[in-house]
Amino acid sequence: MFGPDLDIYSRHYQRWGWFRWIWLPYQKSLRHRSFLSHGPIIGTTLRVIYLCCVVGSFTLLMLLIMQKLLNLQWNWQITGESMGRSLIFYATEFMALFLGMELGAMSHSLSDWSGSAYKRFKKKGIAGVLPSGKIKKRKVSSRTTRQTRRSRSRKSVKTAENKKI
Ligand SMILES: [Zn+2]
Repeated sequence: MFGPDLDIYSRHYQRWGWFRWIWLPYQKSLRHRSFLSHGPIIGTTLRVIYLCCVVGSFTLLMLLIMQKLLNLQWNWQITGESMGRSLIFYATEFMALFLGMELGAMSHSLSDWSGSAYKRFKKKGIAGVLPSGKIKKRKVSSRTTRQTRRSRSRKSVKTAENKKI
């Protein structure tokens, strides 16, 4: 429900039912599988901030309308203070909630990434999974030079032994 795929028309998005339109601006502003939605920590943080902004502004709007309609006297300072107090009071619960959402998002991103890697593997073979061919070549060449150096040193040791004999 709070997963990274809220950046596209997905199951996460559909689960919001009547409130799914909340995520439309989020979808419009982010590319699917972009770092800002699928990246570790930043993805969940951005979604939490986004939802807080949307819900907060709507609550504010509702309160203002109610104030006008019912002619209620609203003490904004007391509202703000009580909200701040409850935030501090439930800090650990919020942290646990955030951690849970983050874990879910991470597992999703991981499965996304491995899924696309598997597709690339099926298309191009092992080269599609590796970041680039150049790095692999460089590694191999450095290994071979090391080996030749080692064998050379072994040879020199042997010749030295032969000389002793
Ligand atoms: Zn995804």
